Amino acid sequence: MRVAIFGDMEGVGGIVHWDQVAAGHQLYQEGRRLYTEEINAAVRGAFAAGATRAVAADSHGAGSTGTMAGPAFNSLVPELLDERCEYVTHHGWGNYTELLEEGCDAAFFVGIHARAGTQDGVLSHTISPRHFSAVHINGTLVGEIGIMAAICGHYGVPMALVTGDEAACREARELLGPHVRTVAVKKGLSRFAARHLAPARARRLIEEGARDALANLAEVPPWTVPSPVTVTFDIARPDQMRKYRQMDRIEIEEPLRVHSRGRDFGEAWFRVAPFPR
Ligand SMILES: [Zn+2]
Repeated sequence: MRVAIFGDMEGVGGIVHWDQVAAGHQLYQEGRRLYTEEINAAVRGAFAAGATRAVAADSHGAGSTGTMAGPAFNSLVPELLDERCEYVTHHGWGNYTELLEEGCDAAFFVGIHARAGTQDGVLSHTISPRHFSAVHINGTLVGEIGIMAAICGHYGVPMALVTGDEAACREARELLGPHVRTVAVKKGLSRFAARHLAPARARRLIEEGARDALANLAEVPPWTVPSPVTVTFDIARPDQMRKYRQMDRIEIEEPLRVHSRGRDFGEAWFRVAPFPR
């Protein structure tokens, strides 16, 4: 059994502030350790349930300013990683599809946050708060959970486990159905405050959630977006529109909206991804 683990930092227990997730800040190093240990918990659960391969793809931009240089998508602490886990760095948001294409039984999304605009979502945003104020798939408002579930679904892979704050878990269940396993490691008291589980307990629950998700995989079908597909981006700032005006087969709705249409989700999505670009 093969498992793709997508990891993000803002939904990790103990994290509430951009300084904990943006490279260059002192608190970032603590954030990286907390993040890596939650990935390890998911890896332990996966192997306990019979996984033979796990690949963790870092999906956290770390405050990158629009280039792929530096620490973007490179926040895991390699020395701390469970040796059974392979890991992918520096590959752009939503761009790691290798394992999904090769054939993969399940995907996990560990440490994810709620979509942009969620009041009780700790550090809520969608891909980048500087770039997007909202994303829709066929008119449904989605965040990173929905987009990643759609990418996985495009390759026939179910999003079987989602971990993060309570708002992210709620968002996952509302979108993917009640059978998706969710593990809430904190409750947002505002966008920048939370009540957390202690790391040891959070990790134990993630491990159990991962094991449980794989043991009951038949309950969670891949999230397949009905064709044809329109992905709509509400752009946060006018200066960001320039690059979309230069893209082929993109429909601009002035002043700040971009539509990408395709026969299926992959065609619509990969015309504009990965991010940043
Ligand atoms: Zn992130």
